[in-house]
Amino acid sequence: MSHELRTQAIAQITERLPLDKKAPKRIEELWATDVFTLNKMQACLPKGVYKSLRNTIQSGGKLDVGVADVVATAMKDWAISKGALYYAHVFYPMTNATAEKHDGFIAVQGDGTVITEFTGKLLVQGEPDGSSFPNGGIRSTNAARGYTAWDVTSPAYVMETDNGVTLCIPTVFVSWTGEALDKKIPLLRSNAAMSKAAQRVLKIMGNSEVAPINSSCGAEQEYFLVDAHFAHNRPDLMLAGRTLFGKAPAKGQQFDDHYFGVIPERVQVFMQDVEEKLYRLGIPAKTRHNEVAPGQFEIAPIYEAANVASDHQQLIMTILRLTAKQHGFICLLHEKPFAGINGSGKHVNWSVGNSTQGNLLDPGDNPESNLQFLTFCGAVIRGVHTYGPLLRAVVASASNDHRLGANEAPPAIMSVYLGTQIEGLFQQIASGNLGAADKAGTMEFGVETLPTFMKDPGDRNRTSPFAFTGNRFEFRAVGSSMSVSGPLVAMNTILADSLNWIGDQLESELGKGSDQRTAVVNVLKTVMEKHGAAVFGGDGYSEEWHKMAVEQRGLANLRTSADALPAFKMQNVKDLFANAGVLSNAELESRFDVYAEQYINTIAVEARLVVQMVKTSIYPAAVQYLSDLSHTIGSLKDIGVELDNSVAQSVAGNVTSMMASLGKLMDVMDKHDFADTEAHMQFCANTIRPLMDEVRTFADALEGEVANNLWPLPTYQEMLFLK
Ligand code: ADP
Ligand code: MG
Repeated sequence: MSHELRTQAIAQITERLPLDKKAPKRIEELWATDVFTLNKMQACLPKGVYKSLRNTIQSGGKLDVGVADVVATAMKDWAISKGALYYAHVFYPMTNATAEKHDGFIAVQGDGTVITEFTGKLLVQGEPDGSSFPNGGIRSTNAARGYTAWDVTSPAYVMETDNGVTLCIPTVFVSWTGEALDKKIPLLRSNAAMSKAAQRVLKIMGNSEVAPINSSCGAEQEYFLVDAHFAHNRPDLMLAGRTLFGKAPAKGQQFDDHYFGVIPERVQVFMQDVEEKLYRLGIPAKTRHNEVAPGQFEIAPIYEAANVASDHQQLIMTILRLTAKQHGFICLLHEKPFAGINGSGKHVNWSVGNSTQGNLLDPGDNPESNLQFLTFCGAVIRGVHTYGPLLRAVVASASNDHRLGANEAPPAIMSVYLGTQIEGLFQQIASGNLGAADKAGTMEFGVETLPTFMKDPGDRNRTSPFAFTGNRFEFRAVGSSMSVSGPLVAMNTILADSLNWIGDQLESELGKGSDQRTAVVNVLKTVMEKHGAAVFGGDGYSEEWHKMAVEQRGLANLRTSADALPAFKMQNVKDLFANAGVLSNAELESRFDVYAEQYINTIAVEARLVVQMVKTSIYPAAVQYLSDLSHTIGSLKDIGVELDNSVAQSVAGNVTSMMASLGKLMDVMDKHDFADTEAHMQFCANTIRPLMDEVRTFADALEGEVANNLWPLPTYQEMLFLK
């Protein structure tokens, strides 16, 4: 019976009809057609209103609420011209998800007729009944008012479904008492804090004109595609987003034949559909390729201002999932859907800059004389060292634990990779004299017809969680399913803190009469003395590093989320966020509560799935096979044929062990009398998870023994290789 589900799924995949051919469109026809862009506003708004809005969006000026009525009407007219009947305030609760509350434009008149209506007040402010969103104790349900407020700096857009269109308005989400309940407010605040500190330092360094500074983000998203026919027969994939069982296939990723391989046609058709939708939403999709694991792929857009990039990143995840369904796939954004093969991350590329100084993390051709770059880079080094545990905590989740801290990319130890050229400069600074940087040189191929080109001044290092990649830092420890906001907030805020510290030191050095260069070098020398331990250019996966980092350099190795999340409660982290005006102590505390609860809930769901799948699928299949074997062995004996019973013995042994482990798991699953949340998390990490793994070991062994025609679950081989 069960095998039939699998063979049916295979038949449905192989007999799948191609989707209707669509004529490819030119990018100019697609670009931002579904976005209420500045250009569209300029065309339909009175000049004064448009100027005021543009000033807020481009230069961060205060929003003039007086213009809201005019903008609302224009936005509504545009949305209705696209077919919209409803609008939605879109917000980003602390769960990594995107949330939306929909309301109609409908208004009924006294005479029973209807008109459409959308006022400035409705645009600017909404009140979703958000009492069910996790808020970490900020609001009790009897005081549950939550407001959404229009974020004018992130453009409104329409989302199309088969038979309707909705106007979507990016918003922030706050409590009645004004506390941030979402991921957007802290991001906006962290950007402002970083801008203020950076402007201060740039002024101390002699710049008279310094425009506001913005952080930028370009996020590379990894994901898996599994045919829906298989995924729908895997309760674990459907509810937990990852396989809780599954024997490794005979062939995995050992040939590296998938990485950057030719994209399978069905997947390419899917990708092009995704890109078309993203272009219409004004999201600059740029890169697509196969990833390391079979069935794994990547998409990356061109970087944008962090706030917009973050909203766009949420949309990318939504569009990937939606489009996958239309193509008969399930898109898995989980960090580790399949044990034993590559997991998925989201590399967050981050830089800061403005219109007057440009990208402050760009070393230029002569980094040794680029004091501004060295100062900002030094600030990052100090930040990563001082707040390493925080950087680990903002990427902590039950699912990301399978990457960080497991034997796979990147390690849970937070260090910075600078590349040989820049690391060399900082070593020179540490030893007290800053000379010249190594030059990059050119690349020759030894073939006349090939061009000569300039080499990058530093190689890449894939094993570092936090790497300088030429003109930005790449935070690689971020999980594939996460919002990029948390990591961006942390990076902006630690940069603000370090820049302020550096600003103080520079002022004091300059006050003593040092010249600019001496002052900077002296301050950075102190940075290297105190924080150079975080700079590491070697192999981040190696055992030596794990030993050296902890024992000699005093860096934390927080393997699980249970170890990492308490960083939100450290005094220096509380002070960091409070001083920068990014998160009050209560807001920070609420984040710990929400993330801890998510961690505990995730593991609870997985444990329940383990019990369900063993009892209702795996155990029945194994005993059915035992029954078949014992009948055959008995019947053969009757006719005088002796069949070796070692297979039956082994299956019976694995069934017995599996059920014994399952019994142990069931005994501890519902324990709830913990001293505190920290203890509960540790119990999940160190007792429940290992028992789930123990059950799995026996179940996977059974998958290798039980007759294929009895095995109920789609296999790794089927899910990873059949497209
Ligand atoms: P990789 O070689 O790291 O895989 P990709 O091209 O896949 O590179 O992705 C790199 C990402 O970094 C893209 O989103 C790109 O737009 C972004 N990026 C490039 N320059 C910057 C910058 N200065 N600041 C932030 N992000 C950047
Ligand atoms: Mg990439």
